Amino acid sequence: MTAATPAPPMIKAAAVNKFFGDLHVLKEIDFEVERGQVVVVLGPSGSGKSTLCRAINRLEPINSGEIAVDGKPLPAEGKELAALRADVGMVFQSFNLFAHKSILDNVMLAPLKVRKVSSTEARKKAMELLERVGIANQADKYPAQLSGGQQQRVAIARALAMNPKVMLFDEPTSALDPEMVQEVLDVMTDLAKEGMTMLVVTHEMGFARRAAHRVVFMSEGEIVEDSSPEEFFTAPKSDRAKDFLGKIL
Ligand code: ADP
Ligand code: MG
Repeated sequence: MTAATPAPPMIKAAAVNKFFGDLHVLKEIDFEVERGQVVVVLGPSGSGKSTLCRAINRLEPINSGEIAVDGKPLPAEGKELAALRADVGMVFQSFNLFAHKSILDNVMLAPLKVRKVSSTEARKKAMELLERVGIANQADKYPAQLSGGQQQRVAIARALAMNPKVMLFDEPTSALDPEMVQEVLDVMTDLAKEGMTMLVVTHEMGFARRAAHRVVFMSEGEIVEDSSPEEFFTAPKSDRAKDFLGKIL
C-alpha cells in the first residue's frame, strides 16, 4: 500500500511576479494557506494586497510563477478556469450586487447559471444562506433598500452559494459606516469558526487579532512578515511593520 499523500495547501503561490507596465507589483511572492486557516493580509495602501487576491482568482494575470488552489494549478482560461473560479469565493469592498434583482435572486443566480442546479434547490440553499447571514427576512427586497452592512452580508451569502473551497475578502468593511462594520465581521468570524479557509485583506486589527491564524504583512509588493497575530502585533520584526503599526494602532 502506498502511503496517503498529505492534502495540498488550499492556496499555494510560488515565485509569483506581477508587473503593471514597469511597476513591479508582486515580487517573488511565496506563500501558502492551509485548509481551514484564516490568514489576514495587512499592509499600506498600494502594497499589492488587492492584486494578490485578484491573481489568486485569475482576475489578474501574473507574469511568472505559479498559483494553485487545492493542488490544482490555475488554468489560463476556458471551462477549467470557470470551475476553478467557482471554488474561490470573493467579496470586495464594493458589494457589486445586481441592482435590478432581488436579494434572493442575487444569491440564486450563479448556482443556477454556473452550477446548473434546479431552481428549487437554488432557492432552498439561498434562503439557508440568507438565514445564516441574518437577512432572510429581506429576501424579496432590492439591494438599494438595504443598508451597506446588510448588502455586504448578502454579498457573502452570494459567494457562499457556490460552495467555494476558499473565501477571499478584499477590505470587505472599508466602505461601510462604522456602525455596520461589526455585523459583517461577525458573519466572517462565524465562517472562520466553521472551518472555512479564508484570506482576508482588512484594516480591522481586532478581527486580525481574534480570528486570524496568521498575519501576512505586505509592503511594496513583498511579503515582509508572515507570523502569528500575537507575534506580529506584539513583536513585529521589520521596521516597515513597526512603522505601519505605529500609524494605525
Ligand atoms: P493594495 O490593495 O495593497 O492597496 P494594489 O494591489 O491595489 O494595492 O496595488 C498595488 C500597486 O499596483 C499600486 O501601486 C497600484 O497603483 C498599482 N495598480 C493596481 N492596479 C493597477 C492597474 N490595473 N494598472 C496599473 N497599476 C495598477
Ligand atoms: Mg486594495
